[in-house]
Amino acid sequence: MNDKKYHVWTEGCQMNVADSQRVGSSLEHLGYTFTDTAEEADVIVLNTCVVRQSAEDKALGRLSSLKPLKEKNPDLVINLMGCLVGVRGAEKLREKLPMVDVFSPPSDPGPLISYLTQGEIRALETDETTRRFEVMDGELLLPVHERGQLVSAHIPVVYGCSHACTYCIIPNKRGIERSRPVGDIVAEVRSLAAQGVKEITLLGQIVDRYGKDILDGPDLAGLLRIVHEVEGIQRIRFLTSHPNYFSTDLMDTVAELPKLMPHIEVPIQAGDDTVLENMKRGYTQQQYRDLVTTIRERIPDCSIATDIIVGFPGETEEQFMQTYRVLADLKLDVAHLARYSPRANTVSDRRMDDDVPDKEKRRRFHLLEDMQAEIVGDINAKFLGQQVEVLFEEKVKGRWKGRTPTNKLVFVESDDDLRGKIEHVTVTWTGPWSMQASLMRQPVISL
Ligand code: SAM
Repeated sequence: MNDKKYHVWTEGCQMNVADSQRVGSSLEHLGYTFTDTAEEADVIVLNTCVVRQSAEDKALGRLSSLKPLKEKNPDLVINLMGCLVGVRGAEKLREKLPMVDVFSPPSDPGPLISYLTQGEIRALETDETTRRFEVMDGELLLPVHERGQLVSAHIPVVYGCSHACTYCIIPNKRGIERSRPVGDIVAEVRSLAAQGVKEITLLGQIVDRYGKDILDGPDLAGLLRIVHEVEGIQRIRFLTSHPNYFSTDLMDTVAELPKLMPHIEVPIQAGDDTVLENMKRGYTQQQYRDLVTTIRERIPDCSIATDIIVGFPGETEEQFMQTYRVLADLKLDVAHLARYSPRANTVSDRRMDDDVPDKEKRRRFHLLEDMQAEIVGDINAKFLGQQVEVLFEEKVKGRWKGRTPTNKLVFVESDDDLRGKIEHVTVTWTGPWSMQASLMRQPVISL
């Protein structure tokens, strides 16, 4: 046990959130305790994202904001982790960012743990440390401040990505696709359940490809069936799906198993076939439309989320309007929108002109944003006065925050401790981004 403290700053996707939890877990294994104040910390981890330039700028901004702390306390250990570092080595970054003590690739606390335990920089020489982490990994002990508190946890099941979407930097930064052994995943789910977690979300860049690189192992549907048996876990989700791999077998598994929630994240990225071809997505807009129809037929009341990039190189007004029309027609529950951001060494960056002006990207973004707000506002309005089942996660500004099976955000005012509880509530107000509800409790009859 030592009296040292660690602080973690996380930017980006759910995979990073899960990775940060694992760093916290490893550090607490060494006796460090968590602080949410960077100024108090002896070790600061910056877990970074570079999927768009804005995320990269944010990470570098956060790093330079730590300069005064490092100057005041040269013993402060700064660990840069995640996609800014990537899996291919940090030599160039080491020169550019001398205030960083340790560089760690995504999903790997190994270099930091090595540095702290051996007092030497072994960044990216991860074999031994990764092995050591994997042993711990089987029974993930949450950081103390999350134990018994965290209701919904994320579990990476596929690391990396081997697809070659022309705009995407992820395969370069997170390496090739690797499925985790089923035993490790199940052990982790069991240990999370024992620590009070009620909902798990299995993660992969293309999560439906789970198991394709493991001989004789289960596929995602098989993995979900196994995880479904874990006692204590009440809800299971998975993301992100790819239109080419989201099979009808998987749909039927979601429809059949009661703990699997009817919410699917399956990005279209663009609604025009030429743009989709230039993105190398591997499907047409009609195939995506058909997929949505099939999902809705096979999984009753399923909500569907998509991702869209506007202003991809060469995207004309007419091609953008195709995307607009697809979104208008399909009336999906969520659209994560992004303006195209060229990323170093991707195919689109090397071979295509970023020729849609930023102002035009913003205009297209806002057109979709406004339309989607209306669509979701209408979808959610149908819940007014209805009873929905909500799993409550935490109290935020005096109200309990929870989610419906279809992943809709619901707030409830109550003095009861609702953390981790599933309650039936009546929806009293709806908007595009959230709903309010009141608890449906049987009145207590006093005699
Ligand atoms: N693996 C998932 C997929 O693409 O199917 C999600 C990966 S990524 C972390 C999340 C989203 O970021 C993508 O779905 C895409 O919409 C967006 N994105 C990726 N690269 C981008 C880029 N260069 N510019 C703008 N948005 C991008």
